[in-house]
Amino acid sequence: MTTFARRAERVQPSAIREFLALAGDPRITSFAGGYPDPTLFPIDELHKIYDDLLAKENASALQYTASEGLPELRSLVAARLTADGMPCTGDDVLITQGGQQGLDLTAKLFVDPGDVIVTERPTFLGALIAFNPCEPDYRSVRMDDEGMDTDALEEVLRGTDRVKLVYTVPDHQNPTGRTMSLARRQRLVELAEEHDVVVLEDTPYRELRYEGERLPTIKSLDPHGRVVHLGSFSKILAPGLRLGWALATPEVREKLALLKLAADTQNGTLNMRAVAAYLEGFDIEAHIEDMLPTYRHKRDLMLATMEEHFPPGITWTRARGGLFTWATFPPRLDVAAFQRDVLIPRSGVIVVPGAPFFADRPESHHARMSFSGVPDERLVAGVRSMGALLAEALA
Ligand code: PMP
Repeated sequence: MTTFARRAERVQPSAIREFLALAGDPRITSFAGGYPDPTLFPIDELHKIYDDLLAKENASALQYTASEGLPELRSLVAARLTADGMPCTGDDVLITQGGQQGLDLTAKLFVDPGDVIVTERPTFLGALIAFNPCEPDYRSVRMDDEGMDTDALEEVLRGTDRVKLVYTVPDHQNPTGRTMSLARRQRLVELAEEHDVVVLEDTPYRELRYEGERLPTIKSLDPHGRVVHLGSFSKILAPGLRLGWALATPEVREKLALLKLAADTQNGTLNMRAVAAYLEGFDIEAHIEDMLPTYRHKRDLMLATMEEHFPPGITWTRARGGLFTWATFPPRLDVAAFQRDVLIPRSGVIVVPGAPFFADRPESHHARMSFSGVPDERLVAGVRSMGALLAEALA
């Protein structure tokens, strides 16, 4: 029998994979996936770019390049980060295989078995999947509408000196849609310095903002170089490109690049060339601006329909951006069981039960619901059926 490494014990299929497979079934109304709306991908522009690249540049677009990423793309990303309050040059940027790889590499760089990673409560499930092979212990910190509660974080930091990393999704968080306030961002930076920890700031939804002001990134508030900032083209261009970035101090960026070399050598040259050409030839800010009304409309429609059809005793977040709302049910409702026994068989609706989003002390009476990717009529019909079944289950 094969004897796996100890870390393999922490590599387990997640409970949600099984029903995410259902999402492709046309009878299913899925509020489960976090997929961006594919009708918003800039397909015509990318089609032309790929044609041109292969016709005019042919072999060079298919050659190896640097592990840190294509220099032109690094500079173009740096220009966008600079415009967002994080002055940097291409040399400071590492191109990653989506934001997901930034999570994996950062954990590998900082976390030994038994070190503590602090997360929001709840947090992005995919981050836990990335961190788990490093065999961390977790402490999760409660949130409210201002994001991670920094007083609660301070208590954790005072209680143990094993914390290495504080992981946060400050803008329109997955799964809650919440945004961390400016005061909390500032406090987080202070606490990181005081307690000698690294902040991992993950921002894939930052630019999907439907209302409210743009707040400074945590990285931009950090004079000490304690923040590793991650971003991604997945939600602003297309996730299949698998392109993201990490911004960190030279020392950290260099180590991350070496870990990336070990993991996958580099991102695909063709995709990096294509996205560089897109950023040079088209107006990505206008493209993002054009997408927002669609998502804003979907969010409003989902929340209004929940308001109308969900029975009393249920609350949910009102995201100012991103793709998700987080619903909280009376504690006696186990969402996974309700979904399996009632929701799927009787309405064909799927959501993501909340328990896997907790790094520790899971709670089973929450659900993440995504408003992207379901046509309006189905969205309304799905929320309405879900409301009726909830009313019955909670009666
Ligand atoms: N971080 C968060 C919070 C996410 O929700 C996601 C994807 N859904 C990612 C990172 C990774 O995305 P990608 O690798 O496609 O950039």
